[in-house]
Amino acid sequence: MTVSTDGLPPLREVIAKHELRAHKSLGQNFLLDLNLTGKIARQAGDLSNCDVLEIGPGPGGLTRALLAEGARHVVAVERDDRCLPALAEISDYYDGRLKVISGDALVFNPAQHLTRPVKIVANLPYNIGTELLVRWLTPSTWPPFWDSLTLMFQREVAQRIVAKPGSKAYGRLSILAGWRSEAKIVMDLPPQAFTPAPKVSSSVVHITKLDKPKFDCNAKVLERVVATAFGQRRKMLRASLKSLAPDVEDRLRAVGIEPTERAERLTIQQFCELSNQFD
Ligand code: SAM
Repeated sequence: MTVSTDGLPPLREVIAKHELRAHKSLGQNFLLDLNLTGKIARQAGDLSNCDVLEIGPGPGGLTRALLAEGARHVVAVERDDRCLPALAEISDYYDGRLKVISGDALVFNPAQHLTRPVKIVANLPYNIGTELLVRWLTPSTWPPFWDSLTLMFQREVAQRIVAKPGSKAYGRLSILAGWRSEAKIVMDLPPQAFTPAPKVSSSVVHITKLDKPKFDCNAKVLERVVATAFGQRRKMLRASLKSLAPDVEDRLRAVGIEPTERAERLTIQQFCELSNQFD
């Protein structure tokens, strides 16, 4: 039997042994190069005194890297039961440092399984990636249960997360990420880095929470105002926000925003001030 640098079998052998043919419906594009998964794990910084939450470990390429890089514990939530035997082998090898939870990450409550400090590191399934990110960014109280997020997205989504006002990519994700965290793209990966190769390129985004939001505002209201404003991003705000209140023009003027302005030109501070008008 051949072994990889971490002492476990190469991922191609693991996939063949457990017959883990990728399913498109589960967003399965696997990373099989442990040098690459090691590099992604290191973007999360020192893991030795942290619990790491991983969503979608699949055959375990990133999971193995997180453990090899010294994560105190890894809690990995996987929806595809076919992956569980492969993940159990990793769990045995790493002597209890890996806990695998079989289920849907959208209905999983992480709090009961994790001890702070917590970092989230994942090559996310593309179909639930933004939904999970928005949830992690918009809890009603801050700071959240996590210290940092190191996440793989389609490049276009990654660019939206880090975009600045006035740019084409600026929108809901940029505002929610910039309001109470710092986000940057730390790695770009071509489609060939994955098996099977997706149609688009990907990027890893590293997001660090701020201790306090940059501006006071209610997360749920901000989320609603921003989603409404960018739902019709080419329209003037007086039209795009009309559904929120009949006197939307007065509310815009009350915080010094021209009703003819467009969403993509407002700063995060302006969105927070505007949200306070709707709270
Ligand atoms: N981490 C592995 C890697 O990097 O090779 C696999 C990444 S693959 C892009 C996404 C993984 O998420 C798959 O293993 C898929 O089965 C899993 N997944 C898809 N939907 C899920 C959900 N709702 N909850 C938990 N895991 C999910």
